[in-house]
Amino acid sequence: MDRVELKAMGKINLGLDVLKKRENGYHDVRMVMQTVYLYDQIALSKKRTPGIDVETNLFFLPLDENNLAYRAARMLADEFHITDGIHIVLDKRIPVSAGMAGGSADAAAVLYGMNQMFGLGLTESELQKRGVKLGADVPYCIMRGTVLAEGIGEELTPLTQCPRCYVLLAKPPVNVSTRLVYEKFDSLSACEHPDIDGIIDGLNKQDIKWIASRIGNVLENVTIQEYPVIEEIKNVMKSKGALNAIMSGSGPTVFGLFEERSRAREAAGKIRELKLAKQVYVTTMHHARRK
Ligand code: ATP
Repeated sequence: MDRVELKAMGKINLGLDVLKKRENGYHDVRMVMQTVYLYDQIALSKKRTPGIDVETNLFFLPLDENNLAYRAARMLADEFHITDGIHIVLDKRIPVSAGMAGGSADAAAVLYGMNQMFGLGLTESELQKRGVKLGADVPYCIMRGTVLAEGIGEELTPLTQCPRCYVLLAKPPVNVSTRLVYEKFDSLSACEHPDIDGIIDGLNKQDIKWIASRIGNVLENVTIQEYPVIEEIKNVMKSKGALNAIMSGSGPTVFGLFEERSRAREAAGKIRELKLAKQVYVTTMHHARRK
């Protein structure tokens, strides 16, 4: 096999809670992760000349070891003494620095694709053990679906799939640093925590209204103060018929859950019209796990 094409799917957090800070600076989290059908298209191919090169549609992304896709390929090439050169084409569609784990999804897809292309025979959990060295969300991006993520995000328990609904994503044009969000979160005295167990109950009941009424992200306590546009987008989504709307990850992407596609589209139009965000997508949840 000389070439593999992959879809690196983005994620949202139906729930994100931060439990405590570890001495090494990492945080213990409890998150309900959900894959969405918005993906980066990746093509991996062997090339005659040695080395790894990355080509992408976004001029501002690094093409060297600072790119997670590059690092994923490098990691397996070094470990398995792969001498072929590797060419990676990365067509980015998942918003960057958005709280949707785009970089981690790319890394996961490259690990998965390298395993196939070079017949390395690694199991999913062997890929995940390598993936966590690249980022806490990479093991989840290898697993995909509706999953409870604990520890630093790498302890994964598959959950009952989220019932079908439409997901409206809107990324406002502000840059949020994940590191700073967590630092500011650490200095907060008290805040309300989301009901992660309530979300899991809703998944077990397969009740989208129940789930929507409990989705929540503790990091909004930091980011909304800093970027009120996040609250504005949430309000537009809710006023346009979303069952609920919250921020994903450390932001700034906001997602709303809708029962009807037409309502999600109307809300998308309103967000664009008010110029709250340009990167606006109506999509669905993605359920298939990797084989
Ligand atoms: P998370 O949800 O895990 O916080 P994120 O959505 O905030 O992730 P990403 O888009 O995954 O952030 O990554 C953003 C940063 O990582 C940028 O500084 C970018 O330059 C760098 N980066 C490295 N590799 C990639 C990649 N393959 N795709 C996107 N960003 C990448």
